[in-house]
Amino acid sequence: SSNTPIASGPLPRRKSRAVAVSHGARTVWVGGDAPVLVQSMTNTDTADAIATAIQVKELARAGSEVVRITVNTPEAAAAVPAIREQLDKMGVDVPLVGDFHYNGHLLLRDFPECAKALSKYRINPGNVGQGAKRDSQFAQMIEAAIQYDKPVRIGVNWGSLDQSLLARIMDENAARAQPWSAQVVMYEALVTSAIENAQRAEQLGLAGDKIILSCKVSGVQDLIAVYRELAKRCDYALHLGLTEAGMGSKGIVASTAALSVLLQEGIGDTIRISLTPEPGGDRTKEVVVAQEILQTMGLRKFAPMVIACPGCGRTTSTVFQELADNIQTFLREQMPEWKKSYPGVEAMNVAVMGCIVNGPGESKHANIGISLPGTGESPAAPVFVDGHKVATLRGERIVEEFQQIVLDYVKKNYGTQ
Ligand code: SF4
Repeated sequence: SSNTPIASGPLPRRKSRAVAVSHGARTVWVGGDAPVLVQSMTNTDTADAIATAIQVKELARAGSEVVRITVNTPEAAAAVPAIREQLDKMGVDVPLVGDFHYNGHLLLRDFPECAKALSKYRINPGNVGQGAKRDSQFAQMIEAAIQYDKPVRIGVNWGSLDQSLLARIMDENAARAQPWSAQVVMYEALVTSAIENAQRAEQLGLAGDKIILSCKVSGVQDLIAVYRELAKRCDYALHLGLTEAGMGSKGIVASTAALSVLLQEGIGDTIRISLTPEPGGDRTKEVVVAQEILQTMGLRKFAPMVIACPGCGRTTSTVFQELADNIQTFLREQMPEWKKSYPGVEAMNVAVMGCIVNGPGESKHANIGISLPGTGESPAAPVFVDGHKVATLRGERIVEEFQQIVLDYVKKNYGTQ
């Protein structure tokens, strides 16, 4: 065996400038020593203030710590103060970010109440105009951020890269004795666009601790390459996300693959998982996936985790799957209230196992564990609490009885009264 101990855990976090994103008394921090923040984006028509406020509330309740809304038309900009007011009335203090493209300079100028109600502006430097207008329109947006004391995210996206900048980088490349590949030119253009625009914002008077950068692409390896370089070249806080990740398991897997590599290297201060929802699907899924990436990597804790075996030919009934699913959903749904009443409960582990092969072993490592009866076993489910067998459940009511044991454990171990 080796003489050196086996190392575990992520590399030290990259040092970035901390950016405060505030609404009223609530401030969330992006970067610095703050934990990696989870954010998401609505897909309602922002002009529909009620529908948007409801979705923001759902996303915030699911755990989104910042929520972005598109501000694409005068009607949308006019609705922003009403959305903020609705949220405040419902006691939802999550900071709102406005996503601006093409006409942001006009909307921020013409709708000062919108500019004030938002906690941060997202500016896409590829979509602020062309030619001479580009510089002045970008400047107008930065001046609005300075006037209203708001941070910005300069969010570059491969799908909307500044074409004049790309042409310049391509010309520089053509002059090289050994030109870089088209892919490397693309990386250089993305990183240069983010950094040059951030420097321009600072020249216009915006402080460096009011700037967050992102460079989103849709390929896993491209995202990793671009962010590694961005991380090296600046100390701005970084927002990570694989754009257009896709639907279903592909979107989740691609986002997880890309973000985990970067997070493991200490890169990234806030994340968004961009999933295309299934028709009628739940938008909050992207928040759950973001939390699960951070929690399974050991970077943050959001909700108690259920450890469940995959099941195999030894599982005799569907009670096992039902129980695992029921407990995970139950725990997640309780979290908004439990966070207040039972501090620390998010660190709890619950094991739900299909039989006694690995059941008691996993159960003993968890705070609470249950092994359902497998093929050829007695029809009884041993329950372990803190490593000790405390009960044996039988019959039709196993799910309800186990849920009660979990609840009692939470009250006893995490209750403050
Ligand atoms: Fe199969 Fe039992 Fe292992 Fe679950 S714990 S996978 S049911 S052998």
